[in-house]
Amino acid sequence: MKKKRVLSGMRPTGKTHLGHLHGILENWRELQDTYECFYFAADWHALTSEYKNSAVIKESLTEMIIDWLSVGLDPQRSTLFVQSWVKEHAELHLLLSMITPLGWLERNPTYKEQQEELADKDVGTYGFLGYPVLQAADILMYKGNYVPVGKDQLPHLEITREIARRFNYLYREVFPPPEALLTEVPNLGGIDGRKMSKSYNNAIFISDPADVIAAKIEQMVTDPQRGYRKDPGDPDVCSLFPYHRIYTESEVVDEIDRECRRAAIGCKDCKKKLLERVVEYLAPIQEKREYYLTHLEEVEEIIQEGTGRAQEVARHVMAEVREAMWL
Ligand code: SF4
Repeated sequence: MKKKRVLSGMRPTGKTHLGHLHGILENWRELQDTYECFYFAADWHALTSEYKNSAVIKESLTEMIIDWLSVGLDPQRSTLFVQSWVKEHAELHLLLSMITPLGWLERNPTYKEQQEELADKDVGTYGFLGYPVLQAADILMYKGNYVPVGKDQLPHLEITREIARRFNYLYREVFPPPEALLTEVPNLGGIDGRKMSKSYNNAIFISDPADVIAAKIEQMVTDPQRGYRKDPGDPDVCSLFPYHRIYTESEVVDEIDRECRRAAIGCKDCKKKLLERVVEYLAPIQEKREYYLTHLEEVEEIIQEGTGRAQEVARHVMAEVREAMWL
């Protein structure tokens, strides 16, 4: 039976951090077992917020794909490609923008939220407002059946589904409205306890060497009420504890939970335990990164090959779209 198709992309706007690793990439890796996956570097999407500093996109792009490979994305099973190398995305974006009512974009609840989150950037542009249309083009181009999303991205996907339905209604049935593959995103804060983000300068990167990770874990905010070692702590409000849930064996996590609450373990020791686990976890990923960083021609071939595969699908679908629209 033909596998269902999954589509997803990531913006190359800097280094890959642990939030990306556990919130996105490990999920992508699992999906490869069940679905036909298309994963792309969304460099045009990156431009919507980074247009004044577009060099960062080029700098991040290859490294980001190296991170994907190092985490276990398999180019034999998944199509890995760069959005801007498949020019058909721009054409479909243009055509879909003709049929997308402005109100759908203006009312998009994540539009305002993202404007606030990117307050340090001037995102009052046509491209930023039209971000969901480009996203719809990316997904519909491959007639994706599923899109892995967190709850907060559901409104974006809904716009894609609306656009697909509108196209099918106006012309003919070309695009299956994609469905959400809801994913659990672990609640990993940055070292200052806020959302992990490059712009907050609070992230731990998967490429960080052990001494840098040690320094970052050392700075991590724990239970703010726990002033002294003898004070009991509360793992539920500590930003370090969710990391233990990912990296540490469950019996030890339970032990830390108990010991923290009766002040039998100090934050210093708790951080030390975490550091050991994180470094151990990242070691094979970092080893693979080193390999790819010294075999860039192999990475280039993988991207070229994936982009070629994506292009083939895109050409077919665009022929169908043009015909449906009498172009
Ligand atoms: S002992 Fe560990 S879980 Fe408890 S407050 Fe300190 S760092 Fe957090």
